Amino acid sequence: MDKKISFKEVPSECPECGGNMVYRGVGEYSCEKCGHLMYDDYGKVRNYIEQHPGATQSEVALATGVSQSRIKQLLIEERIEVAPGSTVFMHCALCNAEIRSGMYCEACAKKVKMGEDKVNKVVRQQQKKAGYLSSDPYDAKGRRRYERQ
Ligand SMILES: [Zn+2]
Ligand SMILES: [Zn+2]
Repeated sequence: MDKKISFKEVPSECPECGGNMVYRGVGEYSCEKCGHLMYDDYGKVRNYIEQHPGATQSEVALATGVSQSRIKQLLIEERIEVAPGSTVFMHCALCNAEIRSGMYCEACAKKVKMGEDKVNKVVRQQQKKAGYLSSDPYDAKGRRRYERQ
């Protein structure tokens, strides 16, 4: 048996004939013997969104049996893009703009990235001030910093 894929939702045995399910890509599996098609969570959600581009997250969850949090996870991991023309599906975590994948809209993604850089800079400065980044174990008065009498 080919056990390369280790997702727990992966179908391994054909429910029709008991044959081996072989991965065909994009979350789709087919039976070696009878050609029966099956899908993992990703395949189910992806298929449903493709066929029902206007579906909401809860409709997809209901139709596929995949939990909403799992769907959200799949969307955030950007393995699934919401089809163009889809009704509201994902929202930017900052400005609530409609987005098709990920966590932020393009503008906010940029802001977040810049913000992170800024925060990192401030943190680095603070660490430098506190002496964490200095290789010199002595402070200005020549005492060992981490030794307390
Ligand atoms: Zn089969
Ligand atoms: Zn935004």
